Amino acid sequence: VIELGTPERSVITTCAYCGVGCSFKAELNGDELVRMTPYKNGEANRGHSCVKGRFAYGYANHSDRILSPMIRDSIDEPWKEVSWEEAIGFAADRMRGLQEKYGRKSIGVITSSRCTNEETYLVQKLARGVFMNNNTDTCARVCHSPTGYGLGQTFGTSAGTQNFDSVEHVDVAVIIGANPTDAHPVFGSRLKKRVRQGAKLIVIDPRKTDVVRSAHIEAAHHLPLRPGTNVAVVTAMAHVIVDEGLYDEAFIRERCDWNEFQEYAEFVRDVRHSPEMTEMLTGVPAEELRKAARLYATGGNGAIYYGLGVTEHSQGSTTVMGIANLAMLTGNLGREGVGVNPLRGQNNVQGACDMGSFPHELPGYRHVKGDEVRALFESKWGVEIDPEPGLRIPNMLDAAVHGSFKGLYCQGEDILQSDPDTKHVSAGLAAMECVIVHDLFLNETANYAHVFLPGSTFLEKEGTFTNAERRINRVREVMKPKNGYADWEVTQLLAKAMGADWHYTHPSQIMDEIAETTPGFANVNYAMLEERGSVQWPCNDAAPDGSPIMHVDGFVRGKGRFIVTEYIPTDERTGPRFPLLLTTGRILSQYNVGAQTRRTENTVWHGEDVLEIHPHDAEVRGVKEGDWVKLASRAGETSLRATLTDKVVPGVVYTTFHHPDTQANVITTDHSDWATNCPEYKVTAVQVGLSNGP
Ligand code: SF4
Repeated sequence: VIELGTPERSVITTCAYCGVGCSFKAELNGDELVRMTPYKNGEANRGHSCVKGRFAYGYANHSDRILSPMIRDSIDEPWKEVSWEEAIGFAADRMRGLQEKYGRKSIGVITSSRCTNEETYLVQKLARGVFMNNNTDTCARVCHSPTGYGLGQTFGTSAGTQNFDSVEHVDVAVIIGANPTDAHPVFGSRLKKRVRQGAKLIVIDPRKTDVVRSAHIEAAHHLPLRPGTNVAVVTAMAHVIVDEGLYDEAFIRERCDWNEFQEYAEFVRDVRHSPEMTEMLTGVPAEELRKAARLYATGGNGAIYYGLGVTEHSQGSTTVMGIANLAMLTGNLGREGVGVNPLRGQNNVQGACDMGSFPHELPGYRHVKGDEVRALFESKWGVEIDPEPGLRIPNMLDAAVHGSFKGLYCQGEDILQSDPDTKHVSAGLAAMECVIVHDLFLNETANYAHVFLPGSTFLEKEGTFTNAERRINRVREVMKPKNGYADWEVTQLLAKAMGADWHYTHPSQIMDEIAETTPGFANVNYAMLEERGSVQWPCNDAAPDGSPIMHVDGFVRGKGRFIVTEYIPTDERTGPRFPLLLTTGRILSQYNVGAQTRRTENTVWHGEDVLEIHPHDAEVRGVKEGDWVKLASRAGETSLRATLTDKVVPGVVYTTFHHPDTQANVITTDHSDWATNCPEYKVTAVQVGLSNGP
């Protein structure tokens, strides 16, 4: 707690970093923020917070913030500060001009998982209702889009099945490709507490994460798999469960499609999926695979928690479906203490997906090809909606390079730093004739922008965020937007300049429209959120108090669907030139590309990204603790300092991606998930050698 004076008033709001969605009390003297403390009645955090959230106010007041709109004719020219009216007019004229010259589908938007539901809803509405195309995508493309696909296919909806409180009833926690103590610290602490109380822990991760090291050795099973082999491990666990008859036949018969189960069972029984064969592919000892499978199937309430170590792979969607298969096999769904729990990285990645940010789905995960749902939005918005899905982010960039995509409105997302294959992203951006960046800082993407529209911080917003447990939390204005307009107002101004009169005067009206058009939000409004504090969707006449746990009596899609999950190795292979595998992750004090946390006191604890390398791999390369090393892949190279550790196994190296100097995404390749194009950030073949520094 930072004591800076005696507060006169306080505002309850929600942290804008990770998917835990902690509630905070912001205390003020007049308009000056003097203290932020975790809110004891916050249902996602119950009075706890992490170091990121506590110091988040730092970036809101940082001198790097750009508060005036700016324009320029070309990216070679210096920026010119202009009025909001001139900037919006310039942006609107350019975007309309591009559509007249190159066609209706030559422009698009990227929504932000950092912004509110209301803001995100308006940005996709801008694409569909004003640009008249479905060229809308979101930063979830590069993180949890496989969750959307995988859980949609198996359960019928893209959402975590449980509430966080459910962890109190877990007997066996399976963590796959997630590092909750660093990336979701408040929930990570609850998980560790549950393990201390006696729950068993299975961690499937190439790296010995903090949760493994902190657990009692007899409670923890660490399966240090070779990066890129998640599908093989998950399928081998299913093999053991089916082969040894440990599945929950009653659950499967009642809740799932029995014929599909039989087909799946025949597939997993194949000797190719045995632990012995899987050991050769994954490096995980067969006996450990067996123990983990038996424990999950027979140890009581089994809950699976997973993160980007599952999704950011060429088979990310397949692993998500494999995880759903495991939960259905063992009947670990529909009650407390079980479930499939994607740990969402960003504060509102769940909400951004719910709000129709993807190019094939209108709000509420309904396909744009659906005549009925299009008719609903058409009558509401007074426009005709294109029935053809639009472009995903990588397709927008490809189309830009090939000359058919010319203009982009990018809200709260630094694609040049956060998307893979930086060279390709910069080529795509450079080929566009109008890039509008709407953000807090002049980020890396803004180097290619023609219009910069200043954004507002979470402390300057009214609206809602939806966290990883589907909890819709209020975000309240702590201070007036320093730039003059909240983000939803800026989008509305742009829409108006392009001919649409939306007439919203408060974000609550946007939420009312969301409730009218999106069944899972039907009973959500600001008055009920004031009264209740928060609510978990679905919240409608069938579930007026919201839904802490999903799929209680049946799956959203009806019968749960088992899907065959064939392991197909990634095209990213090691070899003599690139003999090591790089995987990436986060640390506690920093957040994503660091645009916010590097502008807070958190940087005191973490000044640079480092390369973790096993002492054996370091020794053969002559690398010592703290040496500068060159990290090279088929895509590019960078330099960073090495640290020697047995957290990684020989053959695997690891780094974080919080600092722009490191440019970790210069290294990552353009491989991506087969179903969603989510980039394969977690597997890159690399070479490491001594260097003289950057
Ligand atoms: Fe809570 Fe996540 Fe914010 Fe930390 S970063 S305070 S865990 S929401």
